[in-house]
Amino acid sequence: MKFKPSRSFAVKKIENFIENNLSQYSKLRNFDFGPEKRSNISCISPYVTHGILTEVEIIKKVLKKSLFVKNEKFIQEILWRIYWKGWLELRPTVWSDYLINLKKKKLEFKDNQNYLKAIEGKTNIECFNQWVLELKELNYLHNHTRMWFASIWTFTLNLPWELGAELFMKHLLDGDSASNTLGWRWVAGIQTKGKHYLASEWNIKKFSNNRFDKIKLNEKAIPVINDKIHSIVKKDFSEARNLNGKNLLVFDNNLSFEITDLKNNKFKNIFIVSNENDTRSIKISDKNINFKKFLIEDQEKRLKEKSIKCEKINIKEIKNIGEPLVALYPSVGENLDFLNTKNIKNIDFIYRKIDKFSWKFCNKGFFNFKNYIPKIIQEFI
Ligand SMILES: Cc1cc2nc3c(=O)[nH]c(=O)nc-3n(C[C@H](O)[C@H](O)[C@H](O)COP(=O)(O)OP(=O)(O)OC[C@H]3O[C@@H](n4cnc5c(N)ncnc54)[C@H](O)[C@@H]3O)c2cc1C
Repeated sequence: MKFKPSRSFAVKKIENFIENNLSQYSKLRNFDFGPEKRSNISCISPYVTHGILTEVEIIKKVLKKSLFVKNEKFIQEILWRIYWKGWLELRPTVWSDYLINLKKKKLEFKDNQNYLKAIEGKTNIECFNQWVLELKELNYLHNHTRMWFASIWTFTLNLPWELGAELFMKHLLDGDSASNTLGWRWVAGIQTKGKHYLASEWNIKKFSNNRFDKIKLNEKAIPVINDKIHSIVKKDFSEARNLNGKNLLVFDNNLSFEITDLKNNKFKNIFIVSNENDTRSIKISDKNINFKKFLIEDQEKRLKEKSIKCEKINIKEIKNIGEPLVALYPSVGENLDFLNTKNIKNIDFIYRKIDKFSWKFCNKGFFNFKNYIPKIIQEFI
């Protein structure tokens, strides 16, 4: 399995999946057949995280091939990302609290042998050790395996979920502040209070297609307790008008300008912004840094081929760009944190239309959000 950092590769990948494997998705999606056998799932998350493929574009392709009812499960999964993002946007303190607690746990566990063994894949749980290797070498894990991994980490190895979420962010090419933080919180039982995800031997054996068995797990653990209440903030979507002639910032979550809602505007210049480890709270692996770097270069190349004026910059250089300055909203996460901590306030954000429309349905659980999926589809597809 190889993730090439290119939009043309990503488009071929999703088209191939829709053509050949989508019809079996709902039946087979929960199986992790191993890293060499990934055709039962799409493996497009590193591209969707970076906006190389957009949710609207993917769902349009799916519905061109066959009906909504036949692909409901896949479409729901595609929209989970927007749901998690919207949920976090409404409660941004979940992210800032996570980073504060992560700092504390890192200090507390820096010499903890169980932690050090876990991140090296040297525990006495064989499947877990293999997944650590897979995470570091292939920078991707199957969704079910992420759930097993997070559950074993939290409930059998008794390690803080914050440190596990950091390990994922460091190595996953699709590392995403919302999907990852909330995915870990969900497993721990603090996202849906009191409901945790407990991995079990039979489930791992069955859905790993018998690759693993005789796994000794704590199958009776109780959920992690966290009583902190995060109040919902009202999201202000006021936006810049008359975009023509302004400078535009594009962050690493929106790297396909040419298919965004803004593609017809004539910007003065487009700045494609990279964020390196010296300006991130969670340091990511070199492979991850390079993947982002190549995706940014791919975006620059595609824009230049269309004679659209653009250049790459480091996030620290934003302050040198003249006004008026607008930006595709980077979402709660490292890029927005940088702007806030450096007090960079002269930027007007522009939101994706689908986010503006959908985030208002993210105040409750996903089951509630699901009811609005037909509305979202009707509006955008
Ligand atoms: C503990 C944990 C941590 C996770 N961390 C991340 C992360 O950092 N980044 C990330 O992109 N996903 C994360 N996920 C969600 C999910 O595991 C991946 O999106 C999925 O495995 C990607 O593989 P795929 O593209 O083959 O998915 P498919 O099953 O083919 O699904 C298609 C697309 O739907 C979206 N999707 C599917 N499931 C989810 C989900 N549960 N949440 C959000 N979007 C989803 C993704 O964009 C995915 O590419 C996490 C899940 C868990 C349980």
